Amino acid sequence: MSEDRILTTISFLAKYAQQQREHYFAAGRPLNASDRTTMQPFFSAALLSRVRIVEMAGRQIEEPPFYPEARARGVQLPQVNHMSSITFVDALVFTEGVKIRDLFHALVHATQFEIFGLAGYIDLYVRAFFKVNRTILVPLEAHAFELDTRFSANSADIFSVEGEVWRWIREGRYGLRSHAGTVTQS
Ligand SMILES: [Zn+2]
Repeated sequence: MSEDRILTTISFLAKYAQQQREHYFAAGRPLNASDRTTMQPFFSAALLSRVRIVEMAGRQIEEPPFYPEARARGVQLPQVNHMSSITFVDALVFTEGVKIRDLFHALVHATQFEIFGLAGYIDLYVRAFFKVNRTILVPLEAHAFELDTRFSANSADIFSVEGEVWRWIREGRYGLRSHAGTVTQS
């Protein structure tokens, strides 16, 4: 995969994610009181106030417009539809109802988006995906799965998701040390 092609993919996907974010954020509802109470020990209050939830009731999330053409050229890209949830910055979209573990997972991604910014998140995601070719092995995903598993095994085991994301950045575990070095903890 040439650097040009990687940069083009990143720029297309970032534009798509921004458009989807605007669309779904406007259509979304705030977290309900019960979910907010459950998530409060793990996430910042500001994040929990800001996120919006969208339930698709069986409708699919629209695929990025350039995907069919990429597929035709034999380029594999991360799948965005046929997922139970997808996070566009602070807009959390669920295709089959909001299960508590999926909500936790989506909030981990929202935290990662907050720390890396949209462009930084997409950059890390795409570069890792082109290396490993499986969504689940992309570190941003692997971390979200690890933390939602931990939460689901014992929700009384309290930890800060933001703290965990910063720990992975310090340990260079999101894939690109050079990139992680450009993010400063505030
Ligand atoms: Zn995920």
